[in-house]
Amino acid sequence: MRKWLRQLEKDLESPIEVRRFGSGWFSGLFGLVLAVSGLCLVVSLRWPDLASMPELAALRAVPWFRGLVHAVLIAAYALALLSLMLRPRKAIGATALVVVIAATLLGGANVQPHETRDWGIFFGVDFFVINLVMIGLMFAPVERMFPHRRGQRLFRPEWGEDLFYYLVSSMLIQLTTFLALGPSTLVMAATGGFGEFRAAVAGQPWLLQFVEVLIVTDLAQYWFHRAFHRIPFLWGFHAVHHSAKSMDWLAGARMHFVEIVALRGLTSLPLLTLGFSPSVMQAYVGFVFIYATIVHANLRGDFNLLGRFVVTPRFHHWHHGIDDIAVDKNFAIHFPLLDRLFGTYHFPKSEWPSGYGVPESVPRGYAAQLLYPFRRKG
Ligand SMILES: [Zn+2]
Ligand SMILES: [Zn+2]
Repeated sequence: MRKWLRQLEKDLESPIEVRRFGSGWFSGLFGLVLAVSGLCLVVSLRWPDLASMPELAALRAVPWFRGLVHAVLIAAYALALLSLMLRPRKAIGATALVVVIAATLLGGANVQPHETRDWGIFFGVDFFVINLVMIGLMFAPVERMFPHRRGQRLFRPEWGEDLFYYLVSSMLIQLTTFLALGPSTLVMAATGGFGEFRAAVAGQPWLLQFVEVLIVTDLAQYWFHRAFHRIPFLWGFHAVHHSAKSMDWLAGARMHFVEIVALRGLTSLPLLTLGFSPSVMQAYVGFVFIYATIVHANLRGDFNLLGRFVVTPRFHHWHHGIDDIAVDKNFAIHFPLLDRLFGTYHFPKSEWPSGYGVPESVPRGYAAQLLYPFRRKG
């Protein structure tokens, strides 16, 4: 299995000359994407409770949805076979074929729901697929058109790990907000006298609430982020995020499980208890996901003026810079003003960091990085 994944990774990362049109690389890649999407859609049809998006539940009820799943699976088959015929290296095509066969064995487009009502937990497989395909379709071409680092490929080193992180964080979005609901009811009960205050907050115009949410969370996040840099034990968790050596739309997903849970809990709790409307909260969760993707993306543009007021890719790239001058700078996620106020601002005109990463050697792979904060010395 591991050897196969290695082969697949090698095949996907193969040099540009061997990827030209007609080499079977594109058909293999698109076959694989469609096969994985098809498999997830079949899984969401078979175990509806695993799927957590109400929008997708509505989509599933549409008569042509199964027809669409069927078309996706057929297209994946065709592309996988085409790739196997065209390509001397078979890893991509064979993987796509195996995945699409698995989807068919699970029942294909005609699959019937399975009784899983007693599981009591959702994972959001559907959210992951839709999220990945949409964000990928948006960012991969834009990064290609306006790259900061030319020649950095979609399948750059360590992309596999970051994709797995992406899966975990997509799934955790819902779980962590849900986890913060428990403590928030406690806080609400203990501060019952502030009911009027909460009503006043909820009564404000929607856009004003949204901007306030950005300011409140960014202020909380600034100090949270700074603590994760300055306190050695906490740094072990955050070093994982900084261990990415290439910046792109996938890189921001690399975050230690403990840090995601702590960060989302910290930002959700004030939002839930200060009285903001639930729709503002939901919009914020979606917005911050896209915004984090943008600031990590491999996008050029100096934005010397704009970057002084809102965080741009170059501003956050400096936070990830390997240069000495970039250490412990630019903690803000939305408003650089916080860094200017607290003395951690670094945004030299039109300059970019010389590279990304951390001096210490963080191990590769999700499991090793999960254990890293506990094994790390010094
Ligand atoms: Zn950081
Ligand atoms: Zn970052």
